[in-house]
Amino acid sequence: MFGPPPRFKLTNDTDKPKSIKKMPKYICKQIGGFFSRYAYIFKLVWETNPLILFAMAFSSLFNGITPVLGAFISAELINALVSVFQGQEANIELWISLQFAYFLIQGIVSTVYNAIIKILSEKVVNHIKVKIITKSREIDLSQFDLPEFYEKFENACREAGFRPVQILSSTFTMLSNLISVISFIAVLVTFSPFAPLIIILFALPAAVIRFVYGRKNFHYMRRHSKERRLMEYYSAVMTNKDLVKEVRLFDLGDIFIGKFQSTFNQYYKGLKRLTVRETIWHLLITLVTAAVNAVLFLAIARQVGAGADGITVGHFSLYSGALNSIIGCVGAIVSSTATIYEGTLFIDNMIAFNKVEAKIVPSLEEPRSVEKHVSHTIEFKNVYFSYPGIKKYVLKNINFKLEGGDTAVLVGLNGAGKTTLIKLLTRLYDPSEGVILLDGKDIREYDLKELYSLYGIIFQDFGKYAIQASENICFGDISKGYDEDAMKEAARQSGADEFIEKLPNQYDTYLSKFFEENGAELSIGQWQKLAVSRAFYADSDILILDEPTASLDALAEQQIFNQFDNLRKDKTTIFVSHRLSSATRANIIIVLEQGEIIEMGKHEELMALGGRYHELFTAQAERYLSNSK
Ligand code: ADP
Repeated sequence: MFGPPPRFKLTNDTDKPKSIKKMPKYICKQIGGFFSRYAYIFKLVWETNPLILFAMAFSSLFNGITPVLGAFISAELINALVSVFQGQEANIELWISLQFAYFLIQGIVSTVYNAIIKILSEKVVNHIKVKIITKSREIDLSQFDLPEFYEKFENACREAGFRPVQILSSTFTMLSNLISVISFIAVLVTFSPFAPLIIILFALPAAVIRFVYGRKNFHYMRRHSKERRLMEYYSAVMTNKDLVKEVRLFDLGDIFIGKFQSTFNQYYKGLKRLTVRETIWHLLITLVTAAVNAVLFLAIARQVGAGADGITVGHFSLYSGALNSIIGCVGAIVSSTATIYEGTLFIDNMIAFNKVEAKIVPSLEEPRSVEKHVSHTIEFKNVYFSYPGIKKYVLKNINFKLEGGDTAVLVGLNGAGKTTLIKLLTRLYDPSEGVILLDGKDIREYDLKELYSLYGIIFQDFGKYAIQASENICFGDISKGYDEDAMKEAARQSGADEFIEKLPNQYDTYLSKFFEENGAELSIGQWQKLAVSRAFYADSDILILDEPTASLDALAEQQIFNQFDNLRKDKTTIFVSHRLSSATRANIIIVLEQGEIIEMGKHEELMALGGRYHELFTAQAERYLSNSK
């Protein structure tokens, strides 16, 4: 009845060239990309704490050199034991002590190393998360309207945290294995020069499979961000405080669980297929290499058995141990290089996210400063606007001018474009065409932070922060810091003081039960009063109130508007209101319909005009009168 989950359009995830001729260029590009990502990871970890790199370098050197020492000690110990069994003199104590010391030192180094990495890798994860959230602060609001942005964001967050440490630790593991392999080859080469070569040769197919499937896995994960985000959304719906009421009463639980499950099944199907295919390849390769290794071991045993010159049981242990170690190390090198390669691909997600550039920036190299604590003029000139990814204009040919100290009211049905107009005025978005002037200058020329600081704004969907009531009010103007008297006065002006003073910890009460047991849950009307106090606390130059009193009763609204009359004095003010009684206070009323200004003027003028405003106003007035009868 509720249909299948959305279909997932797969984007073309590979820029692989179609013709062989372009292959060398493509490979060079891939290698270049790999190294630049690699350098970026080193930089990230170095920025967090260089000690991680030093610890890894030391450990890799240590782990690289010590195995061959361990193998020599074991071989000498076996030789000593054989001598004793044959009734000859041998210093068994020395070799046992050395072996014990070897294990002890190895144990200490690996414990300390693991502790360092555990502690510091948390810091790397934190460093990267901070980098990502800092970047999201700079990103244009328009990006938040595009699914690609969420795809990039999710991909960046998902693996970027743990990948850098994993890549570096794999790099150093690879280096230590490389040192071990070289030292073991040196041991084995005099006895059987071809054995190491054969092992390395037979490790290559496994490496190719790891690389190919590492890349396939990366592209699969990248393409399927939408499914993961959907699953996250469906599970959040089930636990979201605001939605849980409806989910219970409309019995939506099974529907959302079903959607979650079918999305997961789609996601899982592809992942399973990839893993099964890779595993089949590895099984085949393992069978072949196991057979080759068995032949090599047999050859060594035969040589020892044939009594090759001076070969002892200890030597057999050393050579077969070396062979074993080379096999293990080559396998580890293949596995670490594949992990490094796959990891650097995932880091690309984070690099791509970091490359998202803000377009809402000052248009001048030396942005203008705004003049504060004065009345400001605002002018819209031939402004057109459409949201990103949508062709249709939601604002068309908007022209009006507000002189300093004017109070304007935007009137119009839902979806007429009132909030969008405010988003343009506050430069959260830039117009598609036309220009918005503040004090005669294009708002794009001003320093963005300074421009934002001019506006005291309450949006329809204002923030309801799960922090203390006092902080919630002071967020109106953080440049002012925490001014307790001003904060309480702002609460008094909006009427919020009445309910705040009855809360368990008054102004210190947390406005959510999310984190604090004695936190408070406010009603929508109470939240609205609190949001209005923000505007009173801010004392900004330009007041913008998008339906500030929609959830309040008529009396509370009246009181707030009376207080606003004091606040706005000679400030330029813009209201959006459905209650047209408030429009009578304005000296300019702008009536919007389907993104266009259809009427503009004072209350009396528009009433006399007998157009849309007159129609809306009289309809509301009649409703009030009939309700009061
Ligand atoms: P109003 O405030 O008058 O109710 P809005 O300015 O919020 O109207 O919306 C005007 C139109 O723009 C509506 O059709 C709405 O669907 C559309 N709209 C609003 N926000 C977005 C957005 N982020 N992306 C795309 N369309 C949007």
